[in-house]
Amino acid sequence: MRIGVDLGGTKIEALALADDGQALLRRRIPAPRDHYPATLAAITTLVEGIERELGQRATVGIGTPGAISPATGLLKNANSVWLNGRPLADDLQRLLGRPLRFANDANCFALSESRDGAASGARAVFGVIVGTGTGGGLVVDGRIWTGLNAIAGEWGHNSLPWPGDGEWPGASCYCGRTGCIETFLSGPGVVRDHREATGEALEAVEITARAAEGDPICDATLQRYEGRMARALASVINLLDPDVVVLGGGLSNLERLYVSVPRLWARHIFSDRVATPLVPPRHGDSSGVRGAAWLWGPGEGG
Ligand SMILES: [Zn+2]
Repeated sequence: MRIGVDLGGTKIEALALADDGQALLRRRIPAPRDHYPATLAAITTLVEGIERELGQRATVGIGTPGAISPATGLLKNANSVWLNGRPLADDLQRLLGRPLRFANDANCFALSESRDGAASGARAVFGVIVGTGTGGGLVVDGRIWTGLNAIAGEWGHNSLPWPGDGEWPGASCYCGRTGCIETFLSGPGVVRDHREATGEALEAVEITARAAEGDPICDATLQRYEGRMARALASVINLLDPDVVVLGGGLSNLERLYVSVPRLWARHIFSDRVATPLVPPRHGDSSGVRGAAWLWGPGEGG
């Protein structure tokens, strides 16, 4: 049995998978905010509770915002900023009494969709999460490509490419830079863009709902969003040329993206034809926790 834990900014989810990938048990709790020891306790209680309930010991994989720094062993780059600089891996391995595997949440998402999801069978998969933040992860031949600094795929903190009027230098980002792709493509980024363009404070779901009803102002906001996503992903395709790009996170529910973005990205991609599919996730919100469970492959860890 394998357990995956998805440590999010607002919730912590755990899922137990049988060796054949069947879901056995799922638990979801609110994530303690601004409190590291409470976060450790919550994860430990979740995992131990599932093991007690199912009467089995499991391998455990943890998907985190940010990544464990290979240089220091401390968590870095998390938008749940109270976790940054903490020895999350050491602390949880001590509390749970076993070796654990950790990966960035976007990497877990890409791994899950590569393993038995929307990107099943593809050799190189770029997974994107557009939600509270904007993350990316790369899976090659069924394995996460972590990178020397454990930042492979983190294109959300590149500058928005081919910026147009009003897009440069852009809004400041929690990472300390300005004009990051995340500040445009995340849910809060859409909300800010709409407010700056119209003076109207609407949530992202409200903007997409009104656009679907034919509201031209909200539609214009989504058109700006689509153009930005197309440029941001064109830069990924020029660099990696993945076999498929899978979208996840709250904004991946916006169906028009799968038609409009590939139509728009071609003009920025250095190729005569662009065959790259842009697809929605198969496992939806469960992909992060499934990918965390699959950090231990079949037959690994006993
Ligand atoms: Zn940034």
